[in-house]
Amino acid sequence: MTDATKPAPRTDLIICPNCDAVFSLARPGHGEKAVCSRCETVLITPRRNAGLQIIALSLSIVILISTAAVFPFLSVDAIGIKNSVSILETALVFSDGPLAVLSLTTAALILFIPLLRVMLCLYVIVPLVRDRAPAPYSADAFRVAEALRPWSMAEVFAIGCAVALIKVSALVHVTFGPAFWLFSVLVMLVVVQENIICRWSVWNALSRPRRS
Ligand SMILES: [Zn+2]
Repeated sequence: MTDATKPAPRTDLIICPNCDAVFSLARPGHGEKAVCSRCETVLITPRRNAGLQIIALSLSIVILISTAAVFPFLSVDAIGIKNSVSILETALVFSDGPLAVLSLTTAALILFIPLLRVMLCLYVIVPLVRDRAPAPYSADAFRVAEALRPWSMAEVFAIGCAVALIKVSALVHVTFGPAFWLFSVLVMLVVVQENIICRWSVWNALSRPRRS
C-alpha cells in the first residue's frame, strides 16, 4: 500500500494499551488524568515541568546505579571473619564458571537494563524538553525502553535481598554497606520516574513536527 492510499492516522482517538478499549481523545489539563473507564489504566497524565523532573530523576538514577554497583552492598561477619562485597563483584565472581550465564543475566536485570532504559529515556526526552527536533531514532529508542520495562528488576532484587538477609541474619552478623542505601533510594526513584512519564505525551511530542 502506498502513502497516498494509506488512511491518515486517527489523532482524535486513544486506545487503552491494557484492554484495547477505544475512546475519543480529550486532553486533560495539567495535574489531571485521563483514565480508562473499563480497566482504570492511566492513559494520559500531563504534568507541568514533567520533562525537567524526568531528566533530573534520570540523571540521579544513572549516578545511583553507577555508585551502587561498585560500593560495598553488605558486610558479613561470621566467627570473626569479616567480608564485604559489591553487587558488581558478586556478579563477576561466577562469571567464568558454569553459573556465568546466570550471574551475567542477574547483573543485566538489576543494573544494566535499568541503566540502559534511563539512558534511552534521556536520549528521547532531552531534545523534546529543549523544544528541539527529536534525536535520530527517538521513536525506536523509546519503543526499546518501553519493551525493556518488564525486564528492569531493581525492585525485585531489593525484595529478594530483604528476604535473603532476614534468613541469613540468624546465622551471621550482617551490616548494610553504602550501596544498600543507595539502592534503596534508587528503587524509589525508579518508581517515581515511571509514574511521572506520560507515555502518550512522549509519543505525541515525537510525532509532532518541530523546528530543528
Ligand atoms: Zn483499559
